[in-house]
Amino acid sequence: QEHCIIIGAGHGGVQAAASLRQEAYQGRITLVSDEPDLPYHKPPLSKGFLKAPEAPVLELRNEAFYRDNRIDLMRGARVTAIEPASRTVSLADGGKLAYTNLILATGSRPRLPELDGVTLDGVLSLRSLADARRLNEGLSGPKRIAIIGGGFIGLELAHTLAGLGHAVTLIEAVPRLLARSVAPAMANHIQTRSAEAGIDFHVGARISHIVGVNGKVDAIKLADGANFPADLVILGTGALPNVELAAEAGLVVNNGIEVDAFLRCSDPAILAIGDCTNFHQVHAGQRLRLECVQNATDQGRNAAKTIVGKPEAYRELPWFWSDQGDMKLQTAGLSLGADHTITTGALQDNAFAIHHFRAGKLIAVDTINRPAEHMLARRLIGTRATPTLADVQAGPQRLKEMLK
Ligand code: FAD
Repeated sequence: QEHCIIIGAGHGGVQAAASLRQEAYQGRITLVSDEPDLPYHKPPLSKGFLKAPEAPVLELRNEAFYRDNRIDLMRGARVTAIEPASRTVSLADGGKLAYTNLILATGSRPRLPELDGVTLDGVLSLRSLADARRLNEGLSGPKRIAIIGGGFIGLELAHTLAGLGHAVTLIEAVPRLLARSVAPAMANHIQTRSAEAGIDFHVGARISHIVGVNGKVDAIKLADGANFPADLVILGTGALPNVELAAEAGLVVNNGIEVDAFLRCSDPAILAIGDCTNFHQVHAGQRLRLECVQNATDQGRNAAKTIVGKPEAYRELPWFWSDQGDMKLQTAGLSLGADHTITTGALQDNAFAIHHFRAGKLIAVDTINRPAEHMLARRLIGTRATPTLADVQAGPQRLKEMLK
């Protein structure tokens, strides 16, 4: 009998299992998760979870779903090795499982900066529900919280924690926020508005070390001598793909596990999806790795199609969202390589869209509090009707007509 093993039960792994059944896959499906909880949505961890930690966790699927779809969900189980020659995986408890197809959906983990003091008590990072619970335990009473890193997770946490009444300082090494993700005008807007919400920013600031007293965090010291007292330090310094299993099994790994257009690794019985995967992104015209729910979920769907013999090249348009206080940031497409931008709407209204063009064609739209424009962009970019500069300048009516 066919047996598909999926390593990792996050957004990608759970979708792959669900899609295999939707595609009428008849074999066994085993979903191996090293977490104890039922698989859950990760985005709320930096948003709603800390505001209402006692509220039920948002599960990706309820327990009955796994039973009804004959998906064997192994919780608290860790794959420790893959042997492609014998098509087996080893588990931490000593067990072995044989597969006909294997999907690596191992996700990513927080990147820890090389700083003295990162292992002190009170220095935390956020990836899993267990991390969020640990953070929540540290929040009894008002705290002084220093966040290292001005990326999406750092900024979301800064807003959530400031909103809960904590004193939040955010320290970023490069001169602006979200440097890898959004245009300078967007980053400036976010910084200005976040500062108005009470977040204390230090950008372009080099940290010397994290200061500890009796093994517990006490402050952050900057290279210029500035000192920020802190009860908690949160590391928002990016993520590293979980590729070690793949690399040790001899699969090709290069900033993520390399896959082809059908998400097959260098061993075609093994596929990889989601945060851990390096693939050729057709819209960007280059290989890269993406860390977003859309990519993990859509690659889960395509991986299932590959396995059931209905392969479809992966070419979904990336999209993403981030909630920061009263700003709903949404991105459609990738602005990599943009040579021109147009902004519609007004920054002072906290509702606007930045359109990115490459060689006269719209390639990405980043919006704040403009959900309809975001949806429109998702439907237009990369289609036969990809708008040009003139189309965007002509206004939303023209863009809507292009969909007809
Ligand atoms: P994951 O969801 O990380 O799942 C991987 C799973 O594999 C994990 O449970 C891991 O423990 C497990 N695993 C790894 N190795 C093994 C092993 N050897 N054996 C067994 N299990 C293993 N994206 C958005 O688009 N919008 C957002 O607003 C957003 N907010 C976020 C907020 C936070 C706090 C975080 C952490 C992420 C956020 N993301 C957001 C990113 C999004 O959650 C990820 O892109 C998505 O979870 C990737 O899915 P995945 O299946 O690739 O990996």
